[in-house]
Amino acid sequence: MKSKEIGFNTICTHAGEIEDKQFKGAISPIYLSTSYAFEDVDIKRYPRYFNTPNQEALCKKIALLENAESSLIFGSGMAAISTALFAFLNGGDHIVLQRTIYGGTANLVNEEFEKHNIKYSYVDSQEPEGFLDKIKDNTKVIYIETPSNPLLTITDIKAIADLAKAKGIITMIDNTFASPVNQNPIDLGIDIVLHSATKYLGGHSDILAGVVISSEDKINTVFQMAKNLGGNLSDYTVWLLERSLKTMGLRVKAQNENAQVLAEYLYANNKVAKVYYPGLTSHPEHELAKAQMNGFGGMLSFELIEGLNADEFQKKLQLIKSSMSLAGVESTILSPSKTSHGLLTPEERAKQGIKDGLLRFSVGIEEPEDLIADIEQALKAMSEN
Ligand SMILES: *Cc1c(COP(=O)(O)O)cnc(C)c1O
Repeated sequence: MKSKEIGFNTICTHAGEIEDKQFKGAISPIYLSTSYAFEDVDIKRYPRYFNTPNQEALCKKIALLENAESSLIFGSGMAAISTALFAFLNGGDHIVLQRTIYGGTANLVNEEFEKHNIKYSYVDSQEPEGFLDKIKDNTKVIYIETPSNPLLTITDIKAIADLAKAKGIITMIDNTFASPVNQNPIDLGIDIVLHSATKYLGGHSDILAGVVISSEDKINTVFQMAKNLGGNLSDYTVWLLERSLKTMGLRVKAQNENAQVLAEYLYANNKVAKVYYPGLTSHPEHELAKAQMNGFGGMLSFELIEGLNADEFQKKLQLIKSSMSLAGVESTILSPSKTSHGLLTPEERAKQGIKDGLLRFSVGIEEPEDLIADIEQALKAMSEN
């Protein structure tokens, strides 16, 4: 599926590295200057212009990871998402968004767009027809997220890209849950790929960052907005993100494998009522996921059977931490109804199919037997109470 000239893990390890000409060190030097002498009048290096040596080097690596021409790195996933949206949406324009998107993105749309006279419509199903129904004459952008949070629904990326292209509409995808290891939407015709690099790109729960990936031309449009909004990432963290990306292929592969084992274990467990994971043949869009993804990812969700309390279960877990965020090398678990989707009304949650007892599990790189043993002991401790 990958059309790269060098393999994925080689890109992760080497692409965009800065050669240490002075000392021949193994890793990229870090350039923290906020002031650079003019080389010629056209190049004015300045961190907020997104063109310091470390930013430019990392942008090359990230663009290659998604088979794209160019990319920009931001101080958070939301800085990347908001800058990309405001770069392509003007007052009077309209955007069609998948309903099941990241809560922070929905808050941005719901709380800020009206002030800028940007119109929006949400699509309740992830079927292409649902998106077609909402398109208007002034629709400029279609925005999707797949696999979605927290129920791991799968949207047909190519079908959305095709219907948008036919109408001259720009497509954006939040590819955070899949990571570039498991899904490359540019290959399927999407215009702009967004990531919270806080998740799989960083992978160690110690970096807040975001990226926008696209063609040279569209990245230039994003840059014009980005330099005004000023959401660049500090060069120190840019350097740390480059370090983290070297192992992304290995980390995510291990997370894919562990998540499949855990999903199958949970599916067979009679104390578990439901498992949501695109790698299970019982997932309604399993075939679509198989066709458009290289791997099914490290995220899954599940519900315990009636009578077993999800909060109680999380308290009994010892190895798997109940905590915010996702995609670290360590396994974490949370209740979407109390965290990521806690700001929605119970009716809105019900509309999205998010039950109060739903648990979202970010599977890490620990030995799968140890994760299973932790779940076993937690379930046992609950039934003894
Ligand atoms: C975390 C996340 C974001 C926001 O990223 P931040 O780095 O927290 O700003 C956006 N989309 C998805 C799918 C996420 O999981």
